[in-house]
Amino acid sequence: MGSTRVALLGTGGTIASASGADGQLVARRSVAELLDGCDIPAGVSVEPAVDLERINSWDMDPRRMWLLAARIEEALTDPEVAGIVITHGTDTMEETAFAVDLATATDKPIVFASAMRSADSTSPDGPRNLSNAVAAAASPKLRGLGVLVNTSDELHAARWIRKVHTHHVNAFSSPAFGPVATFDPAGGLRLVHHRIARWAPTWPLDPDVQVAAMTPYTGFAPDLMRTVIEHTGARGLVLEGFGLGNLPGGLASVVGELTERGVLVVIASRVMAGGTFPVYGGDGGGAGLASAGALFAGELSAAKARLLLMRCLSGTSTKTARTRLLDALDVLAGGC
Ligand code: ASP
Repeated sequence: MGSTRVALLGTGGTIASASGADGQLVARRSVAELLDGCDIPAGVSVEPAVDLERINSWDMDPRRMWLLAARIEEALTDPEVAGIVITHGTDTMEETAFAVDLATATDKPIVFASAMRSADSTSPDGPRNLSNAVAAAASPKLRGLGVLVNTSDELHAARWIRKVHTHHVNAFSSPAFGPVATFDPAGGLRLVHHRIARWAPTWPLDPDVQVAAMTPYTGFAPDLMRTVIEHTGARGLVLEGFGLGNLPGGLASVVGELTERGVLVVIASRVMAGGTFPVYGGDGGGAGLASAGALFAGELSAAKARLLLMRCLSGTSTKTARTRLLDALDVLAGGC
């Protein structure tokens, strides 16, 4: 019987980390070393297994994310490769997974794996997470569902997953819609969501597009928004608002002014689930902000909305980017 081939790309993170002589954790293990401790399902082989980086994920940036997406696409053009696993740090994994989702069009499973405990811990979670991710990448059941993230015995959609705990082993959740699939005790996969609408644009990425993100707080000075745009030259601004997508009073007029100047403004919510709904009037209420030109991120976190804005602004005018963004939000901002 022939085996199903899965490719593996390593980027670092806690899953690859071990303490040095100074007692500090550093991403130092290769993916070959990580595979050594894994329980790879029968009939599956992992090849190629390549270390792209050995960094912690706080050092990830959009340029690295888009490059990773290109390497993934390249690996998946091999007809012998059924799917791919990426090892990654947990701090920004949900962002990288979403960036890859926005920059790849393949139906083959792309699955991220990570760990909360280091590779040299007495009870590391990495080996099981990596084994699960390999099984998922090899599974035809998961084709066409977009980029997935393995965490404990669950698989989550890149667009929904959030890190919800700083140190528990079970640190991830998709607060709005739950996991896409779970592993049963016999190692089988149970699908919870059978279909996830894809948004896979084909226009080229511009890695230099600048989009800023800010978290306004109570009493926030509206002028800070102008300062950030002037300082960064950003063409887009994501604001992580309150509740349904409201901001402190006084900001609607600046949102209007920035929109007039050609800056695309998107409002996300700092609340984990429920999404944005511009229903309140008045200065700062979502409906007022919508009238001033803001768009709303729905269930997407501010960090993910920022990546989406970059994708939409790539190589085009603000007007076209706005149309692209409305189209994208229609697919990505809600449920399946
Ligand atoms: N805490 C992180 C991790 O779990 C560090 C990182 O994101 O690289 O991998």
